[in-house]
Amino acid sequence: MTQSPGGRQRPGFPARLPSSSPAQVRRTAAEAPAARVAPPTGVGMDSSAVRMAMVRRLQAGGVSHPAVLAALGAVERHRFVDTALATQAYEDTSLPIGLGQTISKPSVVARMIELICQGPAGVAGRVLEIGTGCGYQAAVLSRVAREVYSIERLRGLHDKARENLRPLRLSNLHLLFGDGMLGFPAGAPYAAIIAAAGGNDLPSAWIDQLAVGGRLVAPAVTAAGRQNLVVIDKTAAGIVRTELEAVHFVPLKSGIA
Ligand code: SAH
Repeated sequence: MTQSPGGRQRPGFPARLPSSSPAQVRRTAAEAPAARVAPPTGVGMDSSAVRMAMVRRLQAGGVSHPAVLAALGAVERHRFVDTALATQAYEDTSLPIGLGQTISKPSVVARMIELICQGPAGVAGRVLEIGTGCGYQAAVLSRVAREVYSIERLRGLHDKARENLRPLRLSNLHLLFGDGMLGFPAGAPYAAIIAAAGGNDLPSAWIDQLAVGGRLVAPAVTAAGRQNLVVIDKTAAGIVRTELEAVHFVPLKSGIA
């Protein structure tokens, strides 16, 4: 986090351990003794209180699934965004993560994961996430689902997610680099598929790779020409499509880059 002189406008928490900033260590050593005893801004402060406040707001907004709330309370969202944005990490807002992409709002992450948990098959099987981005939603998912495959088409973000997630050692989370419009056939069938990017149509590969009893939650353009959250349940009797509230996701694109 930026250690700007006099900059303590918002309650701080460690975005990155200051040991990763040699410049700051040198600066501290050069300061007067009185300044040295004061801990650098944010060090030793805990983000859990501000995260719990976020969870309470999500609960007030209608999220009730205990495992989803627990996962959102556990994953440190500020570690998935640039240090300059870390103080906004627990606001209900999407934030830029580079390469023109954004991390979804916590309320949207909660809503989508809750929807897949409530599907007929739940999340007891494998879950496929399309659009790893910075890896935040994948980390939350890995705390509620048995096995998570997350695929990203932009190499830069795939690498960033790998770096962000490494310290968390989530052994049930598998990061894949590729075009998620094709799904990931090797892991199919999936109990649930969740997409963090929206196109005009839902790729048929996703529906093919869904288990019977499985649920797909994704943004898609509806007949009214708006992007809405769409739920697809694959039942023994066929496909059941439900359109929910309007959302605003980054575009689903084909190919890798
Ligand atoms: N869940 C992410 C949200 C990232 S935004 C997070 O928590 O940060 C959506 C992501 O979907 C972007 O990174 C974008 O590159 C990716 N995306 C778009 N089309 C894709 C595709 N066909 N396959 C895989 N990823 C895709």
